[in-house]
Order: sequence, then structure tokens, then C-alpha cells
Amino acid sequence: MPVNRAKLLSAAKNAAKNSYSPYSGIKVGAAVYAGGKIFSAANVENASYGLTACAERNAVASAVSSGNRKIEAVALFISGKHEPVPCGACLQVLQEFAKGDIPVISASGNGEIRISRLSSFLPKPFKIK
Ligand SMILES: [Zn+2]
Repeated sequence: MPVNRAKLLSAAKNAAKNSYSPYSGIKVGAAVYAGGKIFSAANVENASYGLTACAERNAVASAVSSGNRKIEAVALFISGKHEPVPCGACLQVLQEFAKGDIPVISASGNGEIRISRLSSFLPKPFKIK
């Protein structure tokens, strides 16, 4: 079953409500579609900044932990006027489980929605052959 992009983005938006972001104040939600299901997560910050976990990686971990390793799409929502672009670490983690050049559906608080492909953000992912 193909992903319903509006539903995936809605899941990302809802996940952002659970964001723990007392340091940046930036609420992020992500949702991935894998195995016919949606897995969503929020960003979880930490007083030791380097321990902060991005929403995208948390959503991937949720899917993979449930036995769903083929991600078909990802949606990302970020509060405010910030540009909704996954960080480099998240792009690499998404690439690991992406089923091809998956769509990246992103939106910010201003309501603008963009649909891109993973390869447009990460054209040369690191791979071990
Ligand atoms: Zn990230």
C-alpha cells in the first residue's frame, strides 16, 4: 500500500507536540512509513547537548525496533520558521534503511510543504561494500 503523504505529515506534526526541547525551543516531529505502518517520534534534547536525539533518528529506531527495516517515505515537521531539513547524521541513518530514493515530505510552522527526494539532500551517502 502506498503511503498517504498527508497522513504521514500529520503524524510528524502530532509527534512534534511531544518534543522535549527546553534548550533550543525547536519542536521537531518525524514519521517514517515502513511495513505498511507509520512510526513517529519527536526530538529529545539533553542538558549535555551532544546527547540530543533527533526526531528522524528516533522514528527510524522505532520502525527498525519493530522489525520494519524498509522505509518507504519520511515526513518531517519543524516548529517556527526553521527550514525543515534533516541533519547530516539523520540523512545517513535514513539512507541505511531507505527503500530506494524515498520521498522526504517536510513542513515548517509557516505551513509551507515541500516534497523532495532523499538523494537531493544526500547525493553521496557513505556505504560499506
Ligand atoms: Zn538529525
